Amino acid sequence: MESDLRRTWAETDLDALGYNYDRLRERIGKAKFLGVVKADAYGHGAIRVAKLLQERGADYLAVSSADEAVELRLNGIKMPVLILGHTPREQVKTLIDYDITQGVTCRAKAVEYSEEAVKAGGTLKIHIKVDTGMSRLGYLCDGDMFETGVEGICEGCSMPGLEAEGIFTHFALSDEEGEEAKRYTEHQFKVFTDVCNAVEERLGRKFKLKHCANTGAVAKYPETWLDMVRPGLLLYGYGEYAKQLGLKPVMSLKTVVSTIKTYPAGTAISYGGIFKTEKRTRVGVLPIGYADGLFRALSNKFSVMTADGPAKQLGKICMDMCMVDLTDKMQTDVGSEIEIFGKNAPIETLAEIAGTIPYELTCAVSKRVPRIYIKDGRVIEKELLLRG
Ligand SMILES: *Cc1c(COP(=O)(O)O)cnc(C)c1O
Repeated sequence: MESDLRRTWAETDLDALGYNYDRLRERIGKAKFLGVVKADAYGHGAIRVAKLLQERGADYLAVSSADEAVELRLNGIKMPVLILGHTPREQVKTLIDYDITQGVTCRAKAVEYSEEAVKAGGTLKIHIKVDTGMSRLGYLCDGDMFETGVEGICEGCSMPGLEAEGIFTHFALSDEEGEEAKRYTEHQFKVFTDVCNAVEERLGRKFKLKHCANTGAVAKYPETWLDMVRPGLLLYGYGEYAKQLGLKPVMSLKTVVSTIKTYPAGTAISYGGIFKTEKRTRVGVLPIGYADGLFRALSNKFSVMTADGPAKQLGKICMDMCMVDLTDKMQTDVGSEIEIFGKNAPIETLAEIAGTIPYELTCAVSKRVPRIYIKDGRVIEKELLLRG
């Protein structure tokens, strides 16, 4: 499908991504690097992101599902890929065929994976997930559950058709501030290392990859880096820690001005008339709305960035468009480029106004928004996600 892409688009700056990767690599020293590219690389385009990480020599990738993993394999990604989430037993053979690693989250799943691997006549590479306090996936190993957990993990590691390459856990509070969060994270880490030691002793062999450090831990807890780190958000350059480490935001969500009209004072703008002009107001219509991923909850609460500085968004955000105040923005005309978030309009500000986190905003950029990839300062690819 052809498109000139001058409606609304998301730019993925691969130069910024490569820069962030290099900085993080320097930071982590000898540890291996797993890049988290689930959810289409947090909306940035998993194939392009994975290709860059592969070229630069990253060690592992992680996705959420078998479908996401296979997408990478079908598009030239040969490096190891770990599935963090749920895989139905019907897809186990596919994982073996494509050499994809599966996280094993409980006894019942271990049994399923083992049965299916044996049936397929192959070996499924696995990483054992330990629940040390996230209370989501993994063998529960905290407190009273230590012994049961360790036994269950040893059993899983010894099932036919499974090859336990790694073991991992996930921190719940590593990106929170304060003493309590610190203690909680340190406790999770201690439970994890205790479990690893107990399992390794009983099995009489070592796991090749022990890993637990997400964004917060890569930024704040070097002792948790172990064999491999597992950042997502940090790689994409968002949040307070990215700022502290001098990383660069990778995505910019952009649109243009499609229409401009000047209304007298007292004019109601958009559905419900929640905003009325107080004076003569030059109003621009932007072809971006909640169906593009611009949350309706942001209505009348944020500003977009124009070449003349920030312009207030006015009234309810519609499905396909929204309005902005361009009074005094005389350089900004029909066709002028507008940044919703990106290098000049920090995503963190928008996320805070929306009562959410940057993750949700980049993940929400919808299928009808084409992705544009920039490398060496030039557009190298325009990707339309609509069915062609
Ligand atoms: C998403 C995810 C990560 C990455 O988290 P960030 O906060 O983006 O660094 C790491 N590990 C697991 C298990 C995840 O689900």
